[in-house]
Amino acid sequence: MKIARFVIDTHVHAQRHAAGPDFRKRGLSDPRKIKYRDLAGLMRHLVTYDNSKRLLYDMECYGVDMCILHPAFGMSNELNLDLMERYPDKFVALASAKETADKGLKGEIEWTMEAACEELDRLLSTGKFVGIGEGMPARPDTPETKKTYSQQERMDELRLVMEVAQKHQVPVRVHTGSPMGYPITYSRWPENFHPNWIRDIAAEYPDVPIIFDHGGMQGGRWDNLVEECIQVAANHENVYLETGLYWTELYYKALADPNVGSEKLMWGTDWGASIPIQTQLGQQPQSFAAQVHRDGIITYQADIMGWSLKQVSRLNISQDDMNLIMGGNAIRVYKLDFPITRMFKPVD
Ligand SMILES: [Zn+2]
Repeated sequence: MKIARFVIDTHVHAQRHAAGPDFRKRGLSDPRKIKYRDLAGLMRHLVTYDNSKRLLYDMECYGVDMCILHPAFGMSNELNLDLMERYPDKFVALASAKETADKGLKGEIEWTMEAACEELDRLLSTGKFVGIGEGMPARPDTPETKKTYSQQERMDELRLVMEVAQKHQVPVRVHTGSPMGYPITYSRWPENFHPNWIRDIAAEYPDVPIIFDHGGMQGGRWDNLVEECIQVAANHENVYLETGLYWTELYYKALADPNVGSEKLMWGTDWGASIPIQTQLGQQPQSFAAQVHRDGIITYQADIMGWSLKQVSRLNISQDDMNLIMGGNAIRVYKLDFPITRMFKPVD
């Protein structure tokens, strides 16, 4: 049985980096010997390819009706637009300032948030994108950067993005958590580790929806970040939690807060991000997402949708609440078309 009336995975990467040939050039052919850190360094220089064949298989297999495509880590807006044109009822996409990031990485320009926002403004003006993401735009981060943001400096950058989102009336996303293999640094996304920083911009731009990518839990054991994300979402009406990498108990934790509840949760798995599920029998949680350094990178399509749907399907809640989490909230917040009225519990 399908889990909900209309199922939207709000966090999907339909593109994949073909890293094999580059690693082979460096004499590395055994994936177990390839470090996540090396892959992360290489990814932003690689051309991505269309991975929709596997995505469409999983969508069909698990009854997922639609995906919100995220460009990230070198993934292009163009490829996502092409997928949207080919499957208009299945895909919508977020915009990312990739051109600015690429030029900054090549040293052609010095990356600035102003340039990233100009690019976002241009992309959103086409009317083809439904939001900004994954995460807030960030300076290309390399080990040579050796620069850590001050809070003031980063918050002023984030305010520029909020202005663009407000102008185009689209939601933004703030990344939280870490897959644990790929390093997430303070130089790239300092707000990633401080969901509480978002309180100021949530209050300053109450008409702009803010969604925490992963709701604090991307991989590993970031229960502390989940707590913080729930507190911020509970306090600010325009803040939402993406929950696809939550295990069952984390959903209950968020649902138990009367200022969060089902109307603030959006299912989204990070499909395509190559994060495998770890199983630890008899422990709590018994399974969770995490890249493990000693295992090396994974080369197959980790089945994150199947795992995540099993976690969420264990919730003993009303189907109307489930329908909000699995699609209704995304339809409302991202202003997506749905052909029939009065199918989802109304939310102010
Ligand atoms: Zn992602």
